[in-house]
Amino acid sequence: MMDYTYLADKLFPHITETPEQVEARYPKRELPEGAKVTRMGPSPTGFMHLGNLYGALVDERLAHQSGGVFYLRIEDTDRKREVEGGVQTIIDAFSAFGLPFDEGATLDGEIGNYGPYRQSQRAEIYQTFVKWLMKQGMAYPCFCTEEELSKAHAEQEANKENFGYYGKYAIWRDRTLEEIEAQLEKGMPYVVRFRSQGSIENKIKHDDLVKGKMEVTENDQDIVILKSDGIPTYHFAHVVDDHLMGTTVVVRGEEWLATLPVHLQLFRAMGWKAPKYAHTAQLMKIDEETGGKRKLSKRKDPELALTFYAGQGYPAACVLEYLMTLLNSNFEEWRRANPELPMNDFPFSTKKMSGSGALFDIDKLTDVSKNVISHMKAEEVYNQVAAWSKEHDSEFNTLFTRDKEKSIAFLQIGRGGKKPRKDIAVWTDVKPYMDFMFDELFNPDYTMPERVSKEDAVSMLDDFAQVFDENDTPDGFFEKMKTIAEKHGYAAETKAYKQNPEQYKGAVGDVSMVIRIAIAGRQNAPDLQSVMHIMGKDMVLKRLEACKNAL
Ligand code: GLU
Repeated sequence: MMDYTYLADKLFPHITETPEQVEARYPKRELPEGAKVTRMGPSPTGFMHLGNLYGALVDERLAHQSGGVFYLRIEDTDRKREVEGGVQTIIDAFSAFGLPFDEGATLDGEIGNYGPYRQSQRAEIYQTFVKWLMKQGMAYPCFCTEEELSKAHAEQEANKENFGYYGKYAIWRDRTLEEIEAQLEKGMPYVVRFRSQGSIENKIKHDDLVKGKMEVTENDQDIVILKSDGIPTYHFAHVVDDHLMGTTVVVRGEEWLATLPVHLQLFRAMGWKAPKYAHTAQLMKIDEETGGKRKLSKRKDPELALTFYAGQGYPAACVLEYLMTLLNSNFEEWRRANPELPMNDFPFSTKKMSGSGALFDIDKLTDVSKNVISHMKAEEVYNQVAAWSKEHDSEFNTLFTRDKEKSIAFLQIGRGGKKPRKDIAVWTDVKPYMDFMFDELFNPDYTMPERVSKEDAVSMLDDFAQVFDENDTPDGFFEKMKTIAEKHGYAAETKAYKQNPEQYKGAVGDVSMVIRIAIAGRQNAPDLQSVMHIMGKDMVLKRLEACKNAL
């Protein structure tokens, strides 16, 4: 009969704490009824992708909507995948999107009473529980070499059997103490495996918050829980951490569903209640070449990287709002009914999440972004554009911030009403939208409407210079357009022109187009009278003159 206590003490002589002592340091959280505790558990691989943000938004909403806690845990158990500065990349990415963690790792330490929040600093905690499992006879050391494992794999392949470490392939499961000690004496490296009592004949029920009710096959593999460097695998770290840290809902990618039976089994072996799980569907896109659906790929799709969005000038709020349209099928309807409310007023629910792949569509993101920006206050747009351009376009930044009041006044045009203008989807759109406001960027195309002769255009510009008043209302301005139209043989009413086109050279719209081209150097610009009011009389008269001279 194996003396597991002896073995556990031999393998973990440095572990002197008991599980109870560890647990005492992680008291039950005092939270209101129904409050959810969620976490982000990214690995510091140096690459944060849209899927990370997608999951984080679910975490954040579930926690903060219920008065709970959302925390950041750095899952740095895989040294091979870790890169220098990886933690900074994670923290920067989330702070850029304004998803506030209540506790967890920070750049220079951590906040919260349930740490350490870096798995690499928790080795002894995991080992305490591994030692305990071993004492119960539920874990054992395995000295298998790579060669032995690949030999088993080849045999399983040849026999068309399931791969892995189970049954007769679990060759260290029932070794004697003498055999184990002989390996230890030789200084052979080993991992610790969990002794599974499961069978693939058995099914277990799982009720997933996203995928719904399902049956999964029990795990019969003796999986590795502690690697040879004394650091746990994801499976064991997940179970220990989410138990101790009081996580109530684990939101993670559906790629983890396959190993869910392992996790449920480990929770049961530890005597702990498993959290609820929300396995989120993969983000997919339509492949431009094949027209078929596929997963977003790091190599092919720059939009998978979270850094892409700031670089392109997508405001963080727009990306989050777009992700919410992917997450909850009823969000768009809510948004239409509540155009002005902050997104966080929307009652987010995992029940409205689709279990199948969400389709990422950058054009849709652009539409959502236009809509979100159209509802922002001009001052907010100003602040964000100023901050963005400072980093990404310093030449424009200098002009844009030279006269703050003017820039805000310009951004205010067409804002605030029931149907706000939607010219801006990304911050890079602002420069081409308002470049004509700055003489330094003004690059006019003075091509006049076909129906207007050069002589007429020159004369209209002259006439307008005589009557221009920067303080006119848009209606007052239009009255002046009508007068000039009539004087030159253009219909003052478009309708009149349409009824009898042969009687006129054109219509009032042609006149205002001439003025617009002179002022903005192009055919499209927001409300002209507002533009001219912001420009001021001097600038307007100079523009009219410059256009005349160029014709
Ligand atoms: N470290 C895991 C990953 O990066 C986290 C999975 C989880 O949230 O449990 O995929």
